[in-house]
Amino acid sequence: MKSAVVLRCPICNAVRALEGRRSKYSKQELYSHVKTHLRGHDLNEPKMAIRKYGIVSDATEIVVLPENHRQLPIEEGTERDDTWLTDGSLSDGEGSLSASESSVETSSL
Ligand SMILES: [Zn+2]
Repeated sequence: MKSAVVLRCPICNAVRALEGRRSKYSKQELYSHVKTHLRGHDLNEPKMAIRKYGIVSDATEIVVLPENHRQLPIEEGTERDDTWLTDGSLSDGEGSLSASESSVETSSL
């Protein structure tokens, strides 16, 4: 199991993943990875300029299964819907990877 840091664009919801633990990256480094993506948005308004730093402060560390690791959107920002990164995996981790036990009707007599 590996760790990855997920950055989510507050403007278009694209996600970008970086390998490693969040503590490995400074905010400056995190921001430098999304800078290129953000350039595609019109961030001239001061309000937007503030929002873009929200990406960094909202960076989430997740645990990645080996089979998912290859699919991390490391190269470029990716539409979140196009990845396996669902809302569940972006919430703060607790139980996000455990399959919810469906209450199967047990008809044991
Ligand atoms: Zn974006």
